[in-house]
Amino acid sequence: MSCRILLSLCIILLGCSAQPAGEQENIPDRAQKDLLIEIAGRVYARELTSGTGGDISVRVPGTDRIVVKATGTCLGDLDYGKLSTIGLDGEVIGGNPAPSHEARIHAAIYSLREEVGAIMHMHSPYATAWAVAGMKIPAVTQQSVSLLAGLALVPYYRVGSQELDRAVAQAYANPETQVVMMQNHGVFVVGKDLYDLLYRGEVVENTARVAWLCKALGPAAGFEF
Ligand SMILES: [Zn+2]
Repeated sequence: MSCRILLSLCIILLGCSAQPAGEQENIPDRAQKDLLIEIAGRVYARELTSGTGGDISVRVPGTDRIVVKATGTCLGDLDYGKLSTIGLDGEVIGGNPAPSHEARIHAAIYSLREEVGAIMHMHSPYATAWAVAGMKIPAVTQQSVSLLAGLALVPYYRVGSQELDRAVAQAYANPETQVVMMQNHGVFVVGKDLYDLLYRGEVVENTARVAWLCKALGPAAGFEF
């Protein structure tokens, strides 16, 4: 083996061992990041968030690692450099960018609910309008009944405050709760994975829109299954 090859191998080996454990990228993390970026783009295209508002995260299956949008980034423009990896305690792992202001809420929900694999916080117009009005979205359609069965509405608290973190986490302590509305702010949705999360987010916004249209027509007709 030539000296040059030996030197190159030493640099590679030294480089790897010098990398902090939290920064080591592995295949499961990359796969989740790729899917997160794709789903986030669809969330933004569907106008479930706007500007740099809202956030999305995914649990790397079989681990305590959570990949979440970095603060100040847009869901429509995510890449690896705009994602942060945190632990279930909400602390950043390795040298990632600062996570979203609501990342601590995501971490608390993952800690409480083992079945949750992905979480989104959205500012979609119709669902947010109901939250601004301080009214729960009525489950007026067959598709929304089970999703909104444990719907919770928490009062307004400042973004990043412990009161908001605590109120949303407490709402998700109810195993039936899939959707939490935050007054004068927006909505949290959980799913078993990123696709489930996207579809649920779409149903929440669609239901909020249909319910608003129903109000214009008159009282919604009751229904039974
Ligand atoms: Zn928000």
